[in-house]
Amino acid sequence: MNADIAIVGGGIVGLATAYHLSQKYSDKKIVVLEKEAELAFHQTGNNSGVIHSGLYYKPGSLKAKNCIDGYNMLLDFCNEHEIHYELCGKVVVASDESEIPALRTLFDRGRENGLEGLEMLDKARLKEIEPHLAGVQGIRVPQTGIINYKNVCAKLAEKITAAGGEIRLNTLVKSIEETADGVQIVTNKSFVECKMMINCAGLYSDEVAKMHLGDIDTKIIPFRGEYFELTTEAEHLVKHLIYPVPDPAFPFLGVHFTRMADGGIEAGPNAVFAFKKEGYKRTDFDFKEFFGSLLWPGFQKVMFKYWKTGLGEIYRSFSKKQFTKALQKLIPEIREEHLVAAPAGVRAQACDKTGGLLDDFKLVTEKRAIHVINAPSPAATSSLSIGKTIADMVEL
Ligand SMILES: Cc1cc2nc3c(=O)[nH]c(=O)nc-3n(C[C@H](O)[C@H](O)[C@H](O)COP(=O)(O)OP(=O)(O)OC[C@H]3O[C@@H](n4cnc5c(N)ncnc54)[C@H](O)[C@@H]3O)c2cc1C
Repeated sequence: MNADIAIVGGGIVGLATAYHLSQKYSDKKIVVLEKEAELAFHQTGNNSGVIHSGLYYKPGSLKAKNCIDGYNMLLDFCNEHEIHYELCGKVVVASDESEIPALRTLFDRGRENGLEGLEMLDKARLKEIEPHLAGVQGIRVPQTGIINYKNVCAKLAEKITAAGGEIRLNTLVKSIEETADGVQIVTNKSFVECKMMINCAGLYSDEVAKMHLGDIDTKIIPFRGEYFELTTEAEHLVKHLIYPVPDPAFPFLGVHFTRMADGGIEAGPNAVFAFKKEGYKRTDFDFKEFFGSLLWPGFQKVMFKYWKTGLGEIYRSFSKKQFTKALQKLIPEIREEHLVAAPAGVRAQACDKTGGLLDDFKLVTEKRAIHVINAPSPAATSSLSIGKTIADMVEL
């Protein structure tokens, strides 16, 4: 054995897991294997930077539990280590009467999840809080915040190495085999023999699980989220974070306005099926990954069910005019010239074989490994709770 525990993936979930394990087992050798030259290079480094409050998630789900616990753990961690964040609050807006029942359901759900200070807003109060907003009713969620998750990752990495852990960058995991008393992980550089492996590989968590388990019943489907940044002249139009009422059948929140922790305001992200797992540009294409998604029986059913929404997202991705139109539902004064293209992110969304985009977080536990199979939003907010849950499950 040249390690006790190996964690595949240096995004926020892998780092939070390694951090908790390094606190639990100060005498054990913990290594993080990351294929890129830097940490937080994929989902974690390209997200909206929102600290979610737990408003949306089904009470009792892993998302609800880990988001609320993770929220509190994240704020404690940031306070302890002086990491900048801001609880600026957000507003969810019903654009017309037809969205009010769904808005009310969200309000009730938020209360059930224990959120404090939720406020139902009528038209006049909405205008008071967000003067440029169009909407008939809204909810104010004071607990929502903003942060740069890369700063959290940098501190987690510092804590892991200070506790004796090792972070190996440029280290791609290529195959995994169980041995008599552990796991052998072959990388592009050498190999790691350890007692326990944790798979936190994000967009490739399905592929890494397959290296260990063979065929699995879920597949990661990549959905690109494209953003625009508001020009400084338009920034006065947005005071909080502004969200539409989400489509309950779809696991994404709809394009919205987000104030960024480091300054500026972003609009987006949309959710476009990506032709490559790390396909940040519209033209990025990987033959194997594209057909792998397309031929997955579950995804075919998703396409059949949501083809209209999917085509709408693709159209909006190519047409700035359509993207602007979606944003104008929230703020009619927004114009195309207020929007400057900004870097995109790609979400890892697990899809099962029978045709469901998995709504909840999913962990698969084996004797020698734990696979984090589905950790989409709000997994950055929830990361310290997910990491603690995993660390509690590991017994060496
Ligand atoms: C557009 C967008 C907006 C979002 N907004 C928010 C938000 O506002 N708030 C929130 O809470 N969440 C948000 N999320 C979700 C959140 O960012 C993710 O859930 C979270 O970052 C997942 O972290 P992770 O560590 O699982 O994955 P990642 O950050 O993707 O990390 C996985 C790592 O594994 C590495 N890896 C993969 N395969 C291998 C291999 N074979 N060998 C070695 N390394 C490997 C990758 O290089 C990568 O660094 C958003 C996500 C996106 C994409």
